Amino acid sequence: MLNIVIFGPPGAGKGTQAKKIAQQYRLVHLSTGDIFRANIKKKTPLGKLAQSYTDKGELVPDEVTIRMLESELNRHKSPRGIIFDGFPRTIAQAEALDNFLEDRGTAITIMLALEVHEEELISRIKSRALLEGRKDDADETVIKNRILEYNNKTAPLKDYYSLQGKSYPVQGVGTIDDIFHGLCEVIEQHLPKADDAQRAAGPDAQTSNKRSPRKPKKKVKKSPARKSSKKAGKKKSAKKPAKRSSKKRSSKKKRK
Ligand code: AMP
Repeated sequence: MLNIVIFGPPGAGKGTQAKKIAQQYRLVHLSTGDIFRANIKKKTPLGKLAQSYTDKGELVPDEVTIRMLESELNRHKSPRGIIFDGFPRTIAQAEALDNFLEDRGTAITIMLALEVHEEELISRIKSRALLEGRKDDADETVIKNRILEYNNKTAPLKDYYSLQGKSYPVQGVGTIDDIFHGLCEVIEQHLPKADDAQRAAGPDAQTSNKRSPRKPKKKVKKSPARKSSKKAGKKKSAKKPAKRSSKKRSSKKKRK
């Protein structure tokens, strides 16, 4: 499985990039912020509890968040991989996540840390408030409190994942596509090995990620064979002998 933690302060672009990564590599996207917001909207007991924290820009207590994440994980029986967005946010959450994954015979593959300076974060969050109407984006005191919570409780997770050799800082300023490209470069280096990757990444990822490095080799050698396979008819099996014979002929010529 390919399990990614997308990490960064509020406004770093975790949600935007997590969606793109989930689509590209066919991963389940788990966003604790989105789950809380959905519960707040439906006025569930979990939503009411969560709102008393989110409105102030505070983290929802660990035991509530961890329980919620576990039940979300249990909904996905055999995912190809998961991208965790907004979770973990404390050391206790990271430890709980490691345990959940270990019980399922897997682990976090990498943690991608989006790097964005504070002025940019505040300006992005204010623009998002206008676009998405999130209550916790609209008030500067709440925004500052969220950044404070991040610095105090969440930033230490960089060390937690660094100690496991899994933390990768990625430039979080630039166009959405440029940032996505930077993230993909790291992911590509950590894709599960051959067979596992086929299960983990699915058909789309196989096309977009795996073929590209092999393309040059195939292109150079195939062009003459393609012509002969057309002559040989539509059957695939006819292509191979055509290739071999043309190679043999050319090598004989060289020898002469
Ligand atoms: P987000 O959309 O990730 O910025 O989260 C919005 C709010 O939901 C946060 O400010 C927290 O109040 C709450 N929240 C989301 N994820 C977590 C988490 N892993 N732990 C505690 N609180 C969280």
